[in-house]
Amino acid sequence: RYVTPVIERMLGYASEAVLDMSVLDLIHPDDRDGVAQMLREASADDGDRADRWRARHREGSWIDVESVSFDLNDDKSVRGTVLTIRDVGDRVKMEDQLRHQAFHDSLTGLPNRSLFEDRVRHAVARARRHGRGLAVLFVDLDDFKTVNDSLGHAAGDDLLRQVAERLDECTRTSDTVARLGGDEFAILVEESSGPDSGEDVANRVHCALETTFAIAEHELFVHASIGIALAEHGATTEEMLRNADMAMYSAKSMGKGRSETFRPTMYMAAQRRLQLTSELRRALRDGELSVNYQPLVNLENQQVLGVEALARWEHPEMGSIPPQDFIPIAEETGLIIELGAWILIEACKQARRWQESRPAERPVYVSVNVSARQFRQPGTVVEQVAAALRESGADPSMLVLEITESVLMQDRVAVSKELSELQNVGVRLAIDDFGTGYSALSYLREFPIDMVKMDQSFVDDLSQGAGDAALVRSVVELGEALDMQIVAEGIERQDQLDSLSGLQCSVGQGYFFSRPLNEDGIGALLDAQAPRRDPSDAAA
Ligand code: C2E
Ligand code: MG
Ligand code: MG
Repeated sequence: RYVTPVIERMLGYASEAVLDMSVLDLIHPDDRDGVAQMLREASADDGDRADRWRARHREGSWIDVESVSFDLNDDKSVRGTVLTIRDVGDRVKMEDQLRHQAFHDSLTGLPNRSLFEDRVRHAVARARRHGRGLAVLFVDLDDFKTVNDSLGHAAGDDLLRQVAERLDECTRTSDTVARLGGDEFAILVEESSGPDSGEDVANRVHCALETTFAIAEHELFVHASIGIALAEHGATTEEMLRNADMAMYSAKSMGKGRSETFRPTMYMAAQRRLQLTSELRRALRDGELSVNYQPLVNLENQQVLGVEALARWEHPEMGSIPPQDFIPIAEETGLIIELGAWILIEACKQARRWQESRPAERPVYVSVNVSARQFRQPGTVVEQVAAALRESGADPSMLVLEITESVLMQDRVAVSKELSELQNVGVRLAIDDFGTGYSALSYLREFPIDMVKMDQSFVDDLSQGAGDAALVRSVVELGEALDMQIVAEGIERQDQLDSLSGLQCSVGQGYFFSRPLNEDGIGALLDAQAPRRDPSDAAA
């Protein structure tokens, strides 16, 4: 019977025009029953119950409104039902946007972890009802940190966006691709839309990443490690996610660009890692770690030139734990900073003791592994080295630091500065595991490197074909050209030694000469090779 004129602004109709219509004409067909019921149930004082429905604009669009209705039939001045409606379109849009933001990653627009978990939860329930398969993939980029550190965050963001696009393109629309955070993505694959196993999807992802990425005027190769969890190994959502994560960790530990499907043994490995993490902290505090030394020898006469210090952990109950198990944990947890400082001091003190006990002989240098993580806090390594030299009284020329190629790929300016400072102190620098990383040779000229330790894989392959001999020869020639000493790692047999000697490689390390030994073991070795000479013929 009456409509306030403001309706024109809201719905485009003049109030008189509305009076000629049924109120139901203004209501979205799907909402009509609800509004009708609301009107039937209206009372005189139920003003706090607001209903949401869609009203039709004269131009055909739907407006989100909220309404309150009062039954005022008993009120003599009204005798009717009063419906108050309010345009809540902006608020609804805002809510939608907030909901989208809460469930999507703003960088890539992909669903985020909460939404992904929700989708997995529903998929698990569906799969259980219909007895169908289901796979969850965790996709983690390899070396993303290097890109971020060397090319900057904007480049890192750009890469993540491009990866997100490729993941989206190589999956079906029924699959969910999500970004879980950082450089970690996830994919939910439901079997309901045809057979497509988790492994098929993983292979497509590897393929999709094969083409280089154009980032900040660079052509980047990007690989990902993928963990696959299948419904059969864990029924619940939590188990699926946990299993995919563990499988991804396992893929990552096997090298770059691999995928692994979850196996129950991985769970045990993860448990062990967890246990080692807390045990390592305690072991460091309790002084349970020790150092072994492996000789580096002159290949011509097998004279010991130096030794590499290698951390050893003998756990009272778990037995001896290899560095491949605890060094990665130390790196992840940051304990490597503490471990690194400790081994530097131990090694320098040891070098000093050997020098004091054999003053007449050429001092045996110690080579200490320094992890990339130790370089991430600028200045730390320089400080630790200075402290170790000071505390031990060792001469800087007796210390060699072994770093991997990944260190040089970090923040180049900061690393270069730090390496120069170390060189100025008189400490020598070696590239460890050369040939396994980036092998961008330009850095050999860019940084003050004194030694290159050729990875064991070069030596392993030597007996297998001429191609590898050529590779070793070129590394040796490179060393000569750049005035660096080339060390062959992992020499186990006479034939390898012979080939290396033939290729003019002058220094080597490996079980063929000696396994890593404790202080006494090396002492005996040094005594055996160079019986102490009479000081009188030292000059001769
Ligand atoms: P790396 O620096 O490349 O050390 C050489 C590894 O090769 C040592 O293993 C050594 O025992 C082994 N090796 C030497 N000769 C042979 C051989 O002829 N055949 C075979 N199969 N292996 C040989 P280890 O002691 O198990 O250490 C493994 C890795 O753990 C090291 O590789 C190094 O990256 C890391 N690591 C050990 N101690 C430390 C440490 O104090 N700090 C850091 N940051 N890393 C360490
Ligand atoms: Mg080493
Ligand atoms: Mg090595």
